[in-house]
Amino acid sequence: MMDYQLTLPALLRRADTFFGSVEIVTRLPDGSLHRSTYADLARRSAMLAAALRALGIQPGDRVATLCRNHSQHLEAYFGIPLAGAVTHTLNFRLHPDDLAYIAGHAGDRAVVVDQSLLPVLDEFRARAPFEHVLVVRDDGPPLAERLDFEVALGEADTSSFLAFEPDEKQAAAMCYTSGTTGRPKGVLYSHRAIVLHSLVCAHRDALDIGESDVVLPVVPMFHVNAWGLPYTATLVGAKQVLPGLHTDAAGLLELLADQGVTVTAGVPTVWLAVLDALDRDPRAYDLSRLRSILVGGAAAPEAMIRAFQERHGLHVVHLWGMTEMTPLGTVSKLGPALASAPDDVRRRYQLTQGRPVPLVEARAHAENGPVPWDGRTPGELEVAGPWVVSSYYGDNGLDDRFTGDGWFRTGDIVTIDPLGFVSIQDRAKDLIKSGGEWISSVALENALMGHPAVAEAAVVAVPHPKWQERPLAAVVLREGHRATGDELREHLAPHFASWWLPDAVEFVDEIPRTAAGKFRKSALRERFSSYWEG
Ligand code: ADP
Repeated sequence: MMDYQLTLPALLRRADTFFGSVEIVTRLPDGSLHRSTYADLARRSAMLAAALRALGIQPGDRVATLCRNHSQHLEAYFGIPLAGAVTHTLNFRLHPDDLAYIAGHAGDRAVVVDQSLLPVLDEFRARAPFEHVLVVRDDGPPLAERLDFEVALGEADTSSFLAFEPDEKQAAAMCYTSGTTGRPKGVLYSHRAIVLHSLVCAHRDALDIGESDVVLPVVPMFHVNAWGLPYTATLVGAKQVLPGLHTDAAGLLELLADQGVTVTAGVPTVWLAVLDALDRDPRAYDLSRLRSILVGGAAAPEAMIRAFQERHGLHVVHLWGMTEMTPLGTVSKLGPALASAPDDVRRRYQLTQGRPVPLVEARAHAENGPVPWDGRTPGELEVAGPWVVSSYYGDNGLDDRFTGDGWFRTGDIVTIDPLGFVSIQDRAKDLIKSGGEWISSVALENALMGHPAVAEAAVVAVPHPKWQERPLAAVVLREGHRATGDELREHLAPHFASWWLPDAVEFVDEIPRTAAGKFRKSALRERFSSYWEG
C-alpha cells in the first residue's frame, strides 16, 4: 500500500471539496450569529498560514491561541499547522503565572488572542516569549498599535498552503495538563494521532458523528482540542456551531434549539446548569433534534443522566479521556450484549465510563500485578494507542508515568468488568484511605447528587487521627431546599458500607472549580485539612 500521510491539510482539502457550502455558525459577542462555510475555513486557514509565514513563523514553531470557541479559533486549528507550525491552545482561565510558565516552556513565538481576553494577556505578556500578537476583534475598527487578525489575513499570499504535505508524525497541536500535581506538562499531538482519533470519534459505536450532524462543542477549544470535535466535524463535514462568549445555560439552550444541534459536549458542571434551566422551563426550547449529550472530563452523576432522560427525553453518553490521550479513551455505548438487559442494569452500565474505543488498549495494575476483569478489584488504569502520549514535551525525569513496556499510567483507579466496561473509582490522589481500606469519593458524590435537595456535592479525604483519612462531603443545596447532614447520610446508608459514609457534611455556597470547570477538590482538602486534627 501507499505510505499515505494522515494529515490535517488532507482533512481540510476534503472538507473544501465536498462540504464547501456546509455552515460554521458562531455566536458573536453581541449575540448575533456569524455564518461561514468549510470553503471559507479552507481559504482563510491558508491565508492565516501565509500571514504567519510572512511574520517569520517557521515549521515546528509553536503559535498560541487565547480564544473562545469561534470560527477564527477553528481557522487557527487548521491554519497554524498549514504553516507547518503547532497550535498551542492556552486556557484563559488559568492564573497568569501558570500562563507565563506554559507559554515560556512551549516557546510560543506568537499568539492569536480575542479582544475580550486582552486583559488576560496583558497580565502575563511581559513574561511570555510572544514576538507577535494577532488580535481577533469583537467588532468595530482594528485597534491602534495592535496587529489585527483580519488585516493580517487580508495581506496574505495564500497560493500554496492548502497543498502543504507535512510528515504525519510532525506535531499539529499541543496542550498542557492542568498541573494539579506539580507543574503543567506539555503534550504534542501529531497529525497522524489527530486524524486517527477523528476517524474513531466519528465511528458509530464511539461518538457517532456524520455528515448530517450539527455539532456544538461547549467544551472550550483550549480543553484538549475541544475533545477533538472540531477535527472530527471537519473530517465528516458536519455543521459546527460555536457559542463564543455565550456559554450560560440559557444562551446554550437557545443555540441548541435554534441551530438544530444533534450532538453537543461538555463537562458535568455545564450540564447540571443546563438541566436546572430546562427543569424550570421545559417547554421553552425545542430540543427534538438533539441525539446525544456527550459528558466527560469528570464522572457524570447518575441523577443527572436520569433526569435528562426521564424528564426531557435526552440521551447522555458518558466519555472518559485525558489531555494525554487527544483525549478520547472510553465511551459508555452498551452494545448488543446489553440490549435486552433490564433497565436498571443498562443504567448501571451507562454510568460507567464504558469500553475502550477501537485502537485504545486498556489494562489495570495493582501493587501485586495485573487486576482481573471482575468488576470488583481496583487497580491503576494503563493505556496504549496511537493517540496516547509517549513522552511529555521537553521533559526529563517525569517518566514514572510510563511502564517498562511503554504503556501510559493514567493515575485513575478503576475496576474493569468481564465485558470490558471501565468504572473510574477515583483519581489516585482523590481516593480516601480509611483504616487501610479505600473509599471512592466519586461513588459517594454520585449518590449525594441523587438527593432532591442537593445541587452539587464533592467528597474529599480529610486527615484523621485514628483512621488516617475519613470522608467529608461539601454540599451545595438547591435553592429553596433544606437538608441536614444526618438526612443525607440516611440517604446514602442503603447503598454503602457504614464505614464509607462521610463523617462530616459541610454545607457550602459553592464548590471551587478548576479552569476546565471541574470540581477543585484540592482546594476543599486544604480548606478542611485540620477538621479532625484541630
Ligand atoms: P485535569 O482534569 O487534570 O485538568 P484532564 O482534562 O486531562 O486534566 O482530565 C483527565 C482526568 O479527568 C482523568 O484522568 C480522570 O481522572 C478525569 N476524568 C475524565 N473523564 C472522566 C469521567 N467520565 N469520569 C470520571 N473521571 C473522568
